[in-house]
Amino acid sequence: MAKRYNTRAIKKHRNYTADELAELLNAHPQTIRGWVDKGLPCLKSSTPHLFTGAHVQAFLTAQSIRKKKPLAPDELYCLCCKTGKTPAGLMADFIPDGAGGGRLIGLCPDCESVCNRFTREEKIPLVAPNLAVQRQAKETSLEEPGEAA
Ligand SMILES: [Zn+2]
Repeated sequence: MAKRYNTRAIKKHRNYTADELAELLNAHPQTIRGWVDKGLPCLKSSTPHLFTGAHVQAFLTAQSIRKKKPLAPDELYCLCCKTGKTPAGLMADFIPDGAGGGRLIGLCPDCESVCNRFTREEKIPLVAPNLAVQRQAKETSLEEPGEAA
């Protein structure tokens, strides 16, 4: 299911038949047909149908981004780097959602963006065994409590 295809094997400016693509990517021809159903463009004016290398690359890249990569322990997801990062200073805040879940937030050590990880409170020792986690107040309102409006 989590199969990764070697998109580097594809030449952008070449056209491929489904069979050629299947062989190149070590995929089943049925898989290629499935990609067409999922939106991979193909040139239907020719027989057999042809696929442009650039389209296939773009399609597979989009697919692999959509697939959720599991985060390693102590990693939070950085939207900016598009990967899991161990937060700067091994510090994270946990913001409960009030229903037993919530998110860990920390700073990306590379780009200083906020990294997130949704988890359940009781799982924090498992997902963040080495992080210093500060539990924050429930995330409901942006207003400071007690502050006059
Ligand atoms: Zn980052």
